[in-house]
Amino acid sequence: MDFEQQRAQLVDELTEREQLKPETAAAIRAVARHEFVPEQRRHSAYDDRPLPIGQGQTISAPHMVAIMSDLLDCSVGDSVLEIGTGCGYHAAVTAELVGADNVYSVEYHDQLAQRARETLSVTGYEEVSVRAGDGREGWEAQAPYDAAYLTCAASAFPEAVIEQVRNGGVVLGPLGNGTQVLVRGEKHEDGTLDRERHGNVRFVPLK
Ligand code: SAH
Repeated sequence: MDFEQQRAQLVDELTEREQLKPETAAAIRAVARHEFVPEQRRHSAYDDRPLPIGQGQTISAPHMVAIMSDLLDCSVGDSVLEIGTGCGYHAAVTAELVGADNVYSVEYHDQLAQRARETLSVTGYEEVSVRAGDGREGWEAQAPYDAAYLTCAASAFPEAVIEQVRNGGVVLGPLGNGTQVLVRGEKHEDGTLDRERHGNVRFVPLK
């Protein structure tokens, strides 16, 4: 099977198993995950598992990106902040949902940020904005966001990230030091979050 066939098969499996929204399934179907993983990992690009991407970091499993996209519940034109660009794959999936020029992503490692920019550019997502820096500060200049998500685990949502999401917006990410839980928060007018837990997960820690 070529990459396209493998991807189609993965999307069909995920759609059925996770009851994905059609928009999410279409986004996963559109992004060539094999272009984002290191050359020597390409043969595994459409296995539903995390893969190493260098600097001790990993690209999340496709089902996790899909579940997070469903929970983020964004539509075209929403602006989204991502903390943890990694190889840029998840940002590309988000770009499919909201438009590449509405995606702002912060990556701690310079080298990963640079490589992600290059990959996003050659795969047609050059309008995704990537900043190297500490995601705990969010990306103030582009705020407010309709939604923000973390792709690395924190003990709590960073204050700045909550602040930079508009009232009524969504914050999503893995929280916890040992056991991590995927938490979705909806921001109230008074700045507090209405939280829902969505099961145990495993992500690399936020630095
Ligand atoms: N979404 C990514 C997965 C990245 S793994 C993808 O699709 O590939 C989590 C990423 O978070 C890593 O690249 C790691 O370097 C980054 N990270 C960890 N702590 C961070 C911080 N404080 N600010 C920004 N990025 C951080």
